[in-house]
Amino acid sequence: MSTGPTHAMSGLVAWAGLTTFAGTEALGELSIKTWLVGATLCSGAALLPDIDHPKSTVASTFGGVSRGTSQAFAGVSGFVYRLTLTRNDSDRSGTHRSFTHTVVFAVLAGLITTAIVQSSQGTALGVLMFLFAGIAVRGIMHTWTPEKDALLIAATSLLLTAACWGWAGDQPSNAAAFGVAVMLGCVMHQVGDAITELGCPMLWPVPLKGQTWYPVAPPKVLRMRTGGRVEMVLVGPVLTGLAVVLSIVVLFRLGGAPWVSDLGLPPEVMAWMVPS
Ligand SMILES: [Zn+2]
Repeated sequence: MSTGPTHAMSGLVAWAGLTTFAGTEALGELSIKTWLVGATLCSGAALLPDIDHPKSTVASTFGGVSRGTSQAFAGVSGFVYRLTLTRNDSDRSGTHRSFTHTVVFAVLAGLITTAIVQSSQGTALGVLMFLFAGIAVRGIMHTWTPEKDALLIAATSLLLTAACWGWAGDQPSNAAAFGVAVMLGCVMHQVGDAITELGCPMLWPVPLKGQTWYPVAPPKVLRMRTGGRVEMVLVGPVLTGLAVVLSIVVLFRLGGAPWVSDLGLPPEVMAWMVPS
């Protein structure tokens, strides 16, 4: 599952699913705005681990700036890979699908996000929102060409950030929720990679079968080809449908989608939609 839209949607589904099933209070006070920022961070973070590949979708988000960042990540990832390699691990450079594809990286990214939001007066969150919105837009609009459309992506994410900020209500300050969003997004990316043929060394540095970089993957029948029919015809559309439905449920609970009451849904569904 490595095409951009599927990764981004998996992030949105995870965030909407978590906030639907764990309840909107589980992450502290959650306003509509906080939920939307979290949704943006989680969708963008679902593409973030590929920052270790200079030719990936995410690396081309902001033109030369993100490509430079990507090269740095590839260098560090390769270094960590070679440093912690065992005799049983495959002898590759380890610049791609290594450190940024581990749960350790996901947790670190989440903690750094929380720390950044906590220590700033809202400005840093605006920057984070801009960056992750850019990555999410880049992921979803994967047909936009990286060379020509870097400006278009920057403009779109700036517009999204400004629209969110200009919207009525307090500025979001739920640092923990944003950390969870980024961590969750990264893990969803790793799971998505694990179910493609190559697997994903998510559990590094836990040694499995004598390998610290053991590529975690389900049995072969459950794996799918990147960009293949299963992804394009089944997984992608199902994830998109789920993302829409779950997002509407949470937004309704938060008071952002009152029109749902007029849809004439069965009373059992409405009873679930409004938890007592
Ligand atoms: Zn990846």
